[in-house]
Amino acid sequence: MADDREKSEAAKREEATLVFWERERIFEKSLAKKSPKGTFVFYDGPPFATGLPHYGHIVASVIKDAVPRYWTMRGYHVPRVWGWDCHGLPIENIVEKELGFKHKKDIKKYGVAKFNERCREQVLIYVDYWKKFIPRIGRWVDMENAYLTMDKSFMESVWWVFKQIYDKGLVYEDYRSMHICPRCETTLSQQEVAEGYKDVKDISVTVRFKVKDPEKFELPANTSLLAWTTTPWTLPGNVALAIGKDISYVLIRENENDYYISSETYAGPVLMASGAFIKKIKGTDLVGLEYEPPFDYYIKDTTLKNRENGWKVYAADFVTVDTGTGIAHEAPAFGADDWELSKKVNLPFVQHVNMDGTMKSEVKDFVGREVKPRSDDDSVRLGTDIAVLKYLQEHGSLFSKENITHAYPHCWRCDTPLLNYATSSWFVAVTKIKGDMLKNAKAIHWSPAHIKEGRWGKWLEGARDWSISRQRFWASVIPLWRCDSCKKIRVFGSVAELEAASGKKVNDLHKHIVDEIAVPCDCGAQMHRVPDVLDTWFDSGSMPYGEEHYPFEHKERFEKTFPAQFIAEGIDQTRAWFYYLHVFGSALFGKNVFRNVIVNGTVVAEDGKKMSKRLQNYPDPIQVVEKYGADALRLYLLSSPVVQAENLSFSESGVDEVAKKNIGRLSNVLAFYKLYEEGTERARTSTNILDRWILARLFELVIETTNGYETYALDRAMRPLSLFIDDYSAWYVRRSRDRFKENGADKKEALATLRYVLYTLSTVIAPAMPFIAEEVFQGIRNANDPESVHLTDWPKAQEKSFFGGRKEKKLIAEMARVRALASEALQARQKAGIKVRQPLATLTIPVTLTDELIQILAEEVNVKKVIVGETLALDIVLTPELIKEGDERELARAVAEARKVEGFSPHDTVRTETRAEGKHSATLSTGVMRFDLIRNAA
Ligand SMILES: [Zn+2]
Ligand SMILES: [Zn+2]
Repeated sequence: MADDREKSEAAKREEATLVFWERERIFEKSLAKKSPKGTFVFYDGPPFATGLPHYGHIVASVIKDAVPRYWTMRGYHVPRVWGWDCHGLPIENIVEKELGFKHKKDIKKYGVAKFNERCREQVLIYVDYWKKFIPRIGRWVDMENAYLTMDKSFMESVWWVFKQIYDKGLVYEDYRSMHICPRCETTLSQQEVAEGYKDVKDISVTVRFKVKDPEKFELPANTSLLAWTTTPWTLPGNVALAIGKDISYVLIRENENDYYISSETYAGPVLMASGAFIKKIKGTDLVGLEYEPPFDYYIKDTTLKNRENGWKVYAADFVTVDTGTGIAHEAPAFGADDWELSKKVNLPFVQHVNMDGTMKSEVKDFVGREVKPRSDDDSVRLGTDIAVLKYLQEHGSLFSKENITHAYPHCWRCDTPLLNYATSSWFVAVTKIKGDMLKNAKAIHWSPAHIKEGRWGKWLEGARDWSISRQRFWASVIPLWRCDSCKKIRVFGSVAELEAASGKKVNDLHKHIVDEIAVPCDCGAQMHRVPDVLDTWFDSGSMPYGEEHYPFEHKERFEKTFPAQFIAEGIDQTRAWFYYLHVFGSALFGKNVFRNVIVNGTVVAEDGKKMSKRLQNYPDPIQVVEKYGADALRLYLLSSPVVQAENLSFSESGVDEVAKKNIGRLSNVLAFYKLYEEGTERARTSTNILDRWILARLFELVIETTNGYETYALDRAMRPLSLFIDDYSAWYVRRSRDRFKENGADKKEALATLRYVLYTLSTVIAPAMPFIAEEVFQGIRNANDPESVHLTDWPKAQEKSFFGGRKEKKLIAEMARVRALASEALQARQKAGIKVRQPLATLTIPVTLTDELIQILAEEVNVKKVIVGETLALDIVLTPELIKEGDERELARAVAEARKVEGFSPHDTVRTETRAEGKHSATLSTGVMRFDLIRNAA
């Protein structure tokens, strides 16, 4: 963090407040304070410590701070414990890079145990920075007792969760086509895949599949079936073609010798009307046709199982005429639909690509080639597709090719293009409990509300079974042992169970440890763990149980406080953390895991683009904090659309404006109060109209902010704050200024009211702006008050005499009208070029007001008289009397200014001496007057 010279005064004052909180242990005291309403449970989604905090973390953190602070003030005990997400690809990729590894093989060569221990050492490298940064933005959370997803206790709870859902029949193993990352060599979940779609260039090809024995089907010699694909690299794995039964196909003469078959749609009306058109063919008539594949590596293999079913035409429901030729190329190892069809009709299984994305040795023309390498260079990324295309061209199999741009999934961690790949994986049968999940979800309150049926609801409805196995290393493991001989399965739900079964002490549940532990099977053979580890989201979804080491510890406490009142995260988590929490809540207890959730949007750069370290298109968060203070950043974020799950284009000038309009003004009011205070107790009994008005506004503020917090609509809790601070500083204090200067009963009332408002306001702003709240509170607190604003109670909003009282509402409306009239009149002044200090004779207004309000308006606009007329009009005729008075006022202002410059207190009496070389000046109607200010002897 920067040195002191770069810090603003506001930032330095915040740092002093931090010292005070820490020294007096205010956070701990706020947790220990009386909580008549019980416990308010908040679950904190753990961030990865493998990077520095960014604006996304800051938004979530600020929300996760303001809400618990509010409920603490409302009389709840709100425990807040930090967590660290430690497992998974993010840290594995960092260690791989550090060790210079390119492939998964490198890890195996290096040794899984060594690799995992390296991950354990490296995963918390940024923790110290976070531990400084998070408190600096004013977030109160216990980071010392943070839970770690790599702790044995957390991992044991994960085992418990796994066993529970396994025992309920919600876990199964299946072999199917799914997305893998060939670089990470692992399967990915639906959500991970959804995360990585990007528009990329690809090549689509239309390929000839030459019909065998065409005469048998009354077709001319040299007839080909045309099939279209955007993944040319899958063509060596072709084992069938699929058509639609109800699709209309046509036979077309291409030239003297060649004919082809495609859908009527593909051939097009022009061709259909020409002499090239031979005849129409029904889809059903194509079924059973045999063809010669463009690549013959597998058709020649006589040992291949189900070979007799291969390289034929089948009917399938998924074939459409929307894109391509109406004939689909089937490579069951590389597509979900293809895989389903192959199971139905027993196609031979051909997988010509290894899991690392390279072509196998039998594909002799392309052996070892990566089918979709990661590269920014299209010629590298598409290298294999282009090679396949050339081969097709040379062998007369290429009908046409086209460049296309389409959305293609990439690895969310390493950016490698994903492959559709048939492999074995363990699944959670989410579809089995989907009904319950949808039913339970009805009771969850979302902010903003549209997420409930929108992004979240739609994802829930589309939920599919969750692929939980990862073929990786540093993660929680699947606690499932299988017999080497009889294949019997045993699932362990605790360390004790595994220890009892194996007779070994188990100190750590990571892969490299537990994979060494064999368990004897009833059949006499040995059981070993299945090699897969768990998707990291399995950890995240287990967070409520892992944090408490449930059910091994804190059983009663957990059960009493489950589910959480509140969680908050970014919008991407609707498909991730929120979702996985909900899967387990429904699977384990048939319950929701959280009752209220705030979803925040994404912070993007000021130009609307993604924030990019490389482009440096956004200011460093810590610099923003040190320039404007954390409170300014907090209020800026909390009152922005980002708390409504919308994107926020981050604007540094926006933070600056919030700082000036709110924190700056509040500091000024506090300084003003301190200048005049005389130990007057705070009170709200004044009868002065300005006092009555600001008190009415204050209670209106309490009602509005309370409603905002109660409904988790933070922007609604924030918006009234700035409006109030404007009313308070730019109207109440300014219009009351003279009242403080003259001793007497009115000054006392003004001071008592000012102090009362400062006190209440400090409590209302405390959740959002904890620093300035503390500063104001410390400036006006009584000896009997709690030692910190964060130990006070939320102001009560039910007092009949103020809230919703008709008189107060009327006064608020009238004063708003006065402010509007004043601003209109001042604009008229500006237009006429007459400064405010120059009194004018009359202001005509089109409404009637009480005498009290007329007087306030007259003072603000600086007119002798306010009269009622047709429209608003300012009399701008200057009489000699008015000019004289204007000069007097100008001089008075200059003297007041000079007093400030000289550092005189309000108690000092002074006189002016006019001198040509005087230090101060006043611009009068007669010209500039220079003078010195002399303090009278006491
Ligand atoms: Zn990857
Ligand atoms: Zn066995």
